[in-house]
Amino acid sequence: MPRRIVIHAGYVIAFDGRGHRLLRHGTVIVEDDRIVSVGRREAAPSDGIAETIEAPDAVLTPGLISTHAHIGGSPLDRSFIEDRGNPQFFYSGLFELLPVRGAAQDDEATRACVDFSMAELLRGGVTTVMEIGGAGEYVAARAGDFGLRVYVGLAFRSGRWLTRDGRRVEWEWNEEQGRRGLADAIELHKRWDGAHGDLVRCFFSPAQVDTCTPELLQASKRAADERQRPWQVHTSQSVVEFYEMLGRHGQTPIAWLRDLGVLGQNAILGHAIVIGGSSWTNYPEGDVAIMADAGCSVAHAVWVFARRGIAMESFARYRRAGVNLSLGTDTNPQSVIEAMRWAAVVSKLVERNTEVTNAAHVFDAATLGGARALGRDDLGRIAPGAQADLVLWRGTSWGMTPLRDPVKNIVYNAAAEDVERVWVAGRLVVDGGRVLAADERAILAALQAGGERMWPRMRQFDWAGRDADALSPQTYPEWA
Ligand SMILES: [Zn+2]
Repeated sequence: MPRRIVIHAGYVIAFDGRGHRLLRHGTVIVEDDRIVSVGRREAAPSDGIAETIEAPDAVLTPGLISTHAHIGGSPLDRSFIEDRGNPQFFYSGLFELLPVRGAAQDDEATRACVDFSMAELLRGGVTTVMEIGGAGEYVAARAGDFGLRVYVGLAFRSGRWLTRDGRRVEWEWNEEQGRRGLADAIELHKRWDGAHGDLVRCFFSPAQVDTCTPELLQASKRAADERQRPWQVHTSQSVVEFYEMLGRHGQTPIAWLRDLGVLGQNAILGHAIVIGGSSWTNYPEGDVAIMADAGCSVAHAVWVFARRGIAMESFARYRRAGVNLSLGTDTNPQSVIEAMRWAAVVSKLVERNTEVTNAAHVFDAATLGGARALGRDDLGRIAPGAQADLVLWRGTSWGMTPLRDPVKNIVYNAAAEDVERVWVAGRLVVDGGRVLAADERAILAALQAGGERMWPRMRQFDWAGRDADALSPQTYPEWA
C-alpha cells in the first residue's frame, strides 16, 4: 500500500499539460514520491492516507529549480564580495576577488557552506539545485540527509586564469589536469548517480569556455550524452573572456561552442550575458539566435551580475527568440525567489517596459524552464506522474497578504519566511518554515568560524598582497 498524502489548498499552481494554471480550491494527492492526481477539491479515498492537509488560505506550487549554484563556497561571498569591482576587468569579480576568496577557504568551511546552502535553498522553496564545484562527494552525501534534489557537477578545466598585476589576465594551461578532472567526474557519476532513491544525479561541468580545450569540451559533452545527463559550461560571463575568445578563434564564445558541436538539448550555458548584441561587447548580434536554434538552455543568474551593474540584454529578448531560460542562484543568496524578482525587474529596466517580462515568465523559468534544462518532464510542475516536489506558501503572512494573485505575491513580495512546508519526492523536508535536517545554530556557527579562518588568509593569495580589509573595506570607517 503506497503512503498517501492529500493536500487541500486554497490555491494550487497546477500544470494542465500546456502550462501552469491557477486552480482554486484544489486537491493534490501524493503517493510515495509522486503526484498521482490534481484537480478541484474532492473527497479522496480514505484508505492508506498517511496525512491530510487542510490549507484553505495557502498556496501550493511546484518546487523551484536553480540550474546554477556554487553551494560549496557561496555563503562566504557574503559581507566581502559586494560593492567591489575593478574597471580594468569591466567589473567582473572573476579575476581578483573570487580566486583570492576561494583559495583562502578551507575544506571545513566548504562543508559549512554546503550545509548552510542546502538549508537556505530548502527554506526558500528550492527543491532542485545544480551544484558546480569541487565538493561533489560531500554534496551528494548531504543531499540525502537534507532531502534536497541535487544535480552534482564536479567542475574541471584544462587551465586557469590569473592576474599578476591587476591589469592583464593570463591563462595557465595544464591539459592533463583537465583530462583527470573529467575522469573524476565520470567516477563520481558511477558512484553517486541515482543515489538516495534517485535524489542525486550527476552532470558534466567543464568549468569555463576559456579554460577548457576544445577536446575537453567535446569529450565531456560525449560523456554527458552517453549517460543522458546535462552538460553545463560557464560562458559569456565577462568582457575579458568575450574578447579573449574572439582573439583566439575569431568567433564569439557561443558561436565557437556551436561549431564545436557541443550545443544541444542537454547543454546549459551558465550566464550567456556578455554576448554579441550586448552593449557590454559592442559586437554584432547573433548569439541569441544561435542559442535558440541549438535548443540549449541558459542558466540565468541575474543577481550576481546585477549587483555589479551588469544586465542581460535582455531576458525578454532571449525568451521571445525561443531560448529556454532557467534561473540560477550562483553565489549568495541561494534564493530563487530573489532570482525571479531580479530577473523580472532587470528585464523591465533594460527594455524600459513594465509588461515585457512578468511574473509568469520568471516563474516558468524557475520551474518548467529548469525542468527542461534538466531534461525532466517530471519536475517543475504539479501534474499526475510528476515528482512530489512541492512548496506550501503561507497565504496569511507578511509577504503573501493580501492574497489575490499568488504568483505575483511570490515573485514580487514573498521571502523565505513565507514558506510553510516543502516536500521533495514526497518527503517533508521543511515544516513550519524550519528545515527539518538543519541544526541552525551549529550551521551558523560553522559558517562564521569558516569566515574567521578565511579572512586573515586572503593576503597571501592576492597578487598585490592586500588583506581582506584592503580588498573589501568596511562599509563605514571604524569609530575612532
Ligand atoms: Zn557559476
